[in-house]
Amino acid sequence: MAPDLVVVGGGPVGLAAAMAARERGLEVLVVDREMPPIDKPCGEGVMPEGVSVLNQLGIHPTGQGVPFRGIRFAEDGLAVEAAFTAGHGLGIRRTRLHQLLIDRAGETGVAMRWGEPVTRISRGRVELGGRSVACRWVIGADGRGSRIRRWAGLRAPSNAPRRIGLRQHFSVAPWSDFVEVHWNDHGQAVVTPVSSEETCISILTSEARLRMPQLVELFPEIRRRLEGAAPSSEARGALCGSSVMRSVVGDGVALVGDAAGTVDALTGEGLSLGLREAVALADAIALDKPGKYQAAHRRIRRMPRVMARLMLSVGERKSLRRRVLRGLISQSRIFAYMLGMHTGTLSARDVPLGALAGFVREMFARDSFEDGDVG
Ligand SMILES: Cc1cc2nc3c(=O)[nH]c(=O)nc-3n(C[C@H](O)[C@H](O)[C@H](O)COP(=O)(O)OP(=O)(O)OC[C@H]3O[C@@H](n4cnc5c(N)ncnc54)[C@H](O)[C@@H]3O)c2cc1C
Repeated sequence: MAPDLVVVGGGPVGLAAAMAARERGLEVLVVDREMPPIDKPCGEGVMPEGVSVLNQLGIHPTGQGVPFRGIRFAEDGLAVEAAFTAGHGLGIRRTRLHQLLIDRAGETGVAMRWGEPVTRISRGRVELGGRSVACRWVIGADGRGSRIRRWAGLRAPSNAPRRIGLRQHFSVAPWSDFVEVHWNDHGQAVVTPVSSEETCISILTSEARLRMPQLVELFPEIRRRLEGAAPSSEARGALCGSSVMRSVVGDGVALVGDAAGTVDALTGEGLSLGLREAVALADAIALDKPGKYQAAHRRIRRMPRVMARLMLSVGERKSLRRRVLRGLISQSRIFAYMLGMHTGTLSARDVPLGALAGFVREMFARDSFEDGDVG
């Protein structure tokens, strides 16, 4: 029987879209050019709303990763942390997450073909391995450089300044149950616990000439933690900046996950947004209302995009970064509210005005200013 959907790209988001569509009674084929389990440079932290989609899809990764309670920001002796208002995040090796998704997709009746690149699409047809498969919908889940997007004639995303992300694992036990984001003038280093004896470090920077060992040297607290720890994977890099797409639905084609635009890896939201979009897409296709998906996509991405822009502009100037950090330390509730807004559990209206005023006061207090600051 011809599938209703051919999902091009069997990464986490493509598999989630396929499972969500199967749950709604659709026949689905997933095609990926690589053999599983597929690895990819990633910080490997799934935010709570992403964990909740995994659970909805019947994936309960207990014992396969490390739960984390919230986020900690740190720079040069200053640090602030906040716990999530609901649920927990999950640090998990990419290959382990991929295998869990594949196993569950198989159980739900998703057909999968691995090691077969899709070479062309036309209205209601997908070409792979010299064959042509007919379907009602082609789903482009083929990642940041999506060819489905190009073949479908959908406008390329507008790109923000490009940053790269390098990721490497180290044999060192997690030292915190928070995901840590360390800041400096070169970028950010994100620390995610992924097992009881392994930690994932990803470094996000515009300085493409630097390699992982040189980048780690730039973050003294992390360097100290990693002293004597052996790397347990090769360092791998990828582009990690934001890109925005206006339209993610075309004639018989819809895009999802990174193929439909990206948020800077600093947000730690790429997987969670893609997983949420996967469910919204399956709902819209099952109802035969693709416009609903277009609207949901815009809604799901709005806040993380704003937060990414905010964090990156604050991150650019050391004096501003440190003032914000001091403000957050003095009013740590504000950091908790920001995290709640970022993950979609709170809105700007929930922020207590007294704490906000205290945060602003501390930011502009004379003794918060660094040497050389005006004020
Ligand atoms: C350095 C870095 C750190 C990150 N950290 C985090 C983090 O901590 N948390 C988080 O949530 N997100 C993070 N992200 C983002 C996250 O990795 C992505 O958002 C996520 O991988 C997107 O998944 P996807 O399924 O859309 O795409 P992908 O994982 O890229 O999957 C696309 C799939 O399509 C296949 N494909 C491509 N072309 C074809 C073709 N022609 N035919 C068949 N198959 C094809 C590929 O083989 C691949 O398997 C990070 C990203 C980077 C770069």
